[in-house]
Amino acid sequence: MRRVSIFGATGSIGQNTIDLIARDPQSYDVVALTGGRNVAQLARDAIRLNADVAVTCFDDELPSLRDALAGSGVEAAAGEAAMHDAATRPADWVMSAIVGAAGLAPGLRALEQGATLALANKESLVTAGPLLMQTARDHGGRVLPVDSEHSAIFQGLVGEDINAVERIIITASGGAFRDWPMDDLAKATVEQASTHPNWNMGQRITIDSASMFNKALEVIETKEFFGVLPNQIEVVVHPESMIHALVGFHDGALMAHVGAPDMRHAIGYALHWPDRKPLPVERLDLTKIGQFTFRAPDPDRYPALPLAWRVMEEGGLSGAIFNAAKERALDLFIDRQIGFLDMARVVERTMDAISPRQGLQNDIPDLDTIRDADKEARRVASQMIEQLG
Ligand code: NDP
Ligand code: MG
Repeated sequence: MRRVSIFGATGSIGQNTIDLIARDPQSYDVVALTGGRNVAQLARDAIRLNADVAVTCFDDELPSLRDALAGSGVEAAAGEAAMHDAATRPADWVMSAIVGAAGLAPGLRALEQGATLALANKESLVTAGPLLMQTARDHGGRVLPVDSEHSAIFQGLVGEDINAVERIIITASGGAFRDWPMDDLAKATVEQASTHPNWNMGQRITIDSASMFNKALEVIETKEFFGVLPNQIEVVVHPESMIHALVGFHDGALMAHVGAPDMRHAIGYALHWPDRKPLPVERLDLTKIGQFTFRAPDPDRYPALPLAWRVMEEGGLSGAIFNAAKERALDLFIDRQIGFLDMARVVERTMDAISPRQGLQNDIPDLDTIRDADKEARRVASQMIEQLG
């Protein structure tokens, strides 16, 4: 039996992970499930999967979690220390699917135990790529990609030499507004931005898809995970979301990963790796699909995307600053305090205002330094609201 834990179990990725595990309960010993406000779901799944412990990150949710788990034998816990404790409980495979920079610390703790970390939380690699990979190396842990593009690249590299790679192309659906007139973008609402044409995901990543902040994060994630150079990474808009990424080799060959837009593919690949096991995902009928289309991303429509190359060039704490400013700008948009296009302006100005080397002592920033930069970037991003004309 493999011991598994799921951080962010109540979210979109967490639920898809549970779907796969619940189909084969004899194979898994579920250690910890974590969630946030959705305590009822957390308790239901913890009981169904017979988890050792269920943890909500919010202290004030503990009474409801306790009530929901009463008599089940599943331990209830809440708050930061409990999240830390859950992450240090020995597990062979851990799904990192908390949304945002909050996912970093539990992932690091799991790697310190030598676990295999299935990484959906791309923010971990953007804010702390070198620290995360170093922690895995130091403790015999391993990071496997779950983001669909990165799973696709990873699969395209099986049996290949990374030195034979010339370029990596990641695809983008183009999000909710890919065909909108440019003049309407400034007035786009939260509801409109929260509807994805192809994927069913959490609200924050769905809005990030419309702005392409998500793709910017994924470009940085590609560099951190595969160690390629910024100028080897390309983004192409592919509205059908069937090709997830392509790896281009020195001989001119492009290896594409094709599949239905269903995250259970990438999650299942990481769960069974290095094996391939049958997965309950749609089998594509290419004759019905008929054609795949591609276009270049328009930087006027997606001003967030070029910022990824700035982050990669600056290095240091730039990823932590970029991600935190983005998270704050997204909060402000969801709270209806700024417009859709203001998000990229807030992030760019925050990057202008804070040095990516501020407080940096070492080549690989530690967790405290990253957290300080994150806090500072959120503070500065909040102030930028006054400067928006
Ligand atoms: P969701 O918003 O659906 O779920 C987020 C999860 O994190 C929930 O379990 C939520 O709890 C929990 N959570 C929220 N805030 C905190 C916090 N401060 N501390 C601890 N836990 C918290 O997100 P997704 O599943 O869509 O995304 C999860 C991660 O996976 C993100 O990093 C995203 O970028 C990445 N990803 C997602 C994809 C997708 O298809 N959804 C595809 C590729 C990557 P609760 O809901 O109970 O409050
Ligand atoms: Mg993705």
